[in-house]
Amino acid sequence: MPDVTLVLRSTRVITPDGERPASVAVADGRIAEVLPHDAEVPEGARLEDVGDDVLLPGLVDTHVHVNDPGRTEWEGFWTATRAAAAGGITTLLDMPLNSLPPTTTVENLRVKQDVARDKAHMDTGFWGGAIPGNVKDLRPLHEAGVFGFKCFLSPSGVDEFPELDPEQLESAIAEIASFDGLLIVHAEDPDHLHAAPQQGGPEYKNFLASRPRAAENDAIARLIDLARRYEARVHVLHLSSSDALPMIAKARAEGVRITVETCPHFLTLTAEEVPDGATEFKCCPPIRERENQDALWQGLADGTLDCIVSDHSPCTADLKSDDFGTAWGGISSLQLGLPAIWTSARERGHSLEDVVRWMSSAPAGLAGLDDRKGAIEAGRDADFTVLAPEETFTVDAAELYHRNQVTAYAGKTLHGVVRSTWLRGEPVTDHGRITQKTGRLIERNSA
Ligand SMILES: [Zn+2]
Repeated sequence: MPDVTLVLRSTRVITPDGERPASVAVADGRIAEVLPHDAEVPEGARLEDVGDDVLLPGLVDTHVHVNDPGRTEWEGFWTATRAAAAGGITTLLDMPLNSLPPTTTVENLRVKQDVARDKAHMDTGFWGGAIPGNVKDLRPLHEAGVFGFKCFLSPSGVDEFPELDPEQLESAIAEIASFDGLLIVHAEDPDHLHAAPQQGGPEYKNFLASRPRAAENDAIARLIDLARRYEARVHVLHLSSSDALPMIAKARAEGVRITVETCPHFLTLTAEEVPDGATEFKCCPPIRERENQDALWQGLADGTLDCIVSDHSPCTADLKSDDFGTAWGGISSLQLGLPAIWTSARERGHSLEDVVRWMSSAPAGLAGLDDRKGAIEAGRDADFTVLAPEETFTVDAAELYHRNQVTAYAGKTLHGVVRSTWLRGEPVTDHGRITQKTGRLIERNSA
């Protein structure tokens, strides 16, 4: 067994068995043992005592649009992974679209990996994409280490990543099920979107009416049916419509292999508070009413909703005009997701253990990384976030590290200051400042 080189000590360590005082021994980049708080520090090991700050497993964000290469002016691997590091995220998975090329062939994956390799402050992996005509590329991408495949059922917003029609969706799902891969879906039904009034303009209520809950609900009903028929693993991305929760719960109870994520903006921002023209709040599906938000929190509490991930989807400031019809849809929250969620979670009576389950353990499980990431226990990577949960700060866009300092959280006072993040036992950030860059490219477990 390799020598212990580091001991991280806290009165509040979040372990799979609950929160407790502990000393976490690290050897060779992994957690060697979780010891009692007053355990003796092995000779030659460094002690890092964080006092009453909380030691969490590093967060795993499986939904990030990095856009590099091709739309690097929107976001790049250097800036995105730096923002992630400052926000307590130690592993991120990049979405297959908005970069050029999109991650729809092995060749394109290699282009993206080459760009990311020297820029990743945090561990970075890739989703593949399922688009019309690339069924033959799915298995090779799977074997090349992508974590699964994203598809759209309605237009994605970029021409090079078209949506799948019903027949194409069925071909993709059949192929992915044949190697027991994972299909992740932007679930909005195009017919409902066509039928909805598309008025555009600065009024948020018109934008909300243009992306009705029924579009999500019907798309998810279709996915449940397909997952059942093909015994396929399907994951619903960024759920906003809480109306879909009962059918998801029922399908899961019947053994359908469907999982669901939601995002910080759906859980912490409401339609009622979006000022007209404030397109930094625009995303698809949209932020809905307060009553919907309450139901999403209920879905998290009862386990119907599995994880909370950022859907960090930035663009340049000029693409956020004051017209909700034409502005780019996407909210940037890599650096703010943890404090935003913790602020609301604590008000609603949830614990940091809940937050860790939703933002670290469950996303690690979704990606099949649960032997390496997502918990403080022996054998996993020594990836940590040190959080001062009762300390507050007010969001200032100028202090954000993602490339374009556009944020829907400006001026909000949030609980939870990330003191430091650690990757494989090495400090990566200290009070937001990068100390070193040790991120690696990661692949799906081939076992
Ligand atoms: Zn997305």
